[in-house]
Amino acid sequence: MRNQEGRRRVGIMGGTFDPIHIGHLMLAERAYEQFELDTVLFLPAGNPPHKHGRTGGAEDEERVAMVALAIRDNPHFSLDAEEMRRSGDTYTFETLLALREAHPDTDYYFIIGADSLFALGTWKNPQIVCRNCTLLAAVRDHASRERMEREIERLRRRYGADIRLLDTPDMEISSTELRDRARRGQSLRYYVPDAVRDYITKFDVYQDSTTDEDNEAK
Ligand code: ATP
Ligand code: MG
Repeated sequence: MRNQEGRRRVGIMGGTFDPIHIGHLMLAERAYEQFELDTVLFLPAGNPPHKHGRTGGAEDEERVAMVALAIRDNPHFSLDAEEMRRSGDTYTFETLLALREAHPDTDYYFIIGADSLFALGTWKNPQIVCRNCTLLAAVRDHASRERMEREIERLRRRYGADIRLLDTPDMEISSTELRDRARRGQSLRYYVPDAVRDYITKFDVYQDSTTDEDNEAK
């Protein structure tokens, strides 16, 4: 599907995906539907600076493999592992600029949860991110619509950001909680697609002896 000017509309679902869960998947599907996107790219973060010092998480290849398994039965979702091929820190603004250069006929819609919306000012070069995509923000952690709209207005004035609200349910699920559940031997059933759950079990992805809490205590 292309609009009148012949431009493609592509969603980007960026994340650490450690592991990918139904919150991410439902967000992407709702964005696809609500904004009539042609496709959604899942973009696992290479080496996100805000997650340095993380231990007990999955290996990069495992995070990518889990994303591939999670989206394989959805024809309008695809995986873009470009950030994984880059060394050093990876930044969203660089990824977006590279995509825009490679696909000048495409408009990008970057999908984020409310926590990412409130943290946008701490990203590297937020003004470049804002000028090169439309941001689609979903509620999370019971952030009120009013608070999100205030932040959207602030980011619009500050960076010229074009940010729209996604119409999604508030899904109380995070990868942090799922890593903890997996380490405690609790079930991830219904939190992640079955294929991801099987992969985590088969490869003991979260059976590392070091936990996030151990790491924070250091
Ligand atoms: P972690 O707990 O490790 O930070 P996470 O569940 O927040 O994991 P990320 O990979 O950090 O997952 O998130 C990628 C993007 O998806 C972020 O923009 C985040 O706000 C959004 N997101 C993740 N889970 C949800 C959710 N349950 N509701 C709304 N947005 C979400
Ligand atoms: Mg997160």
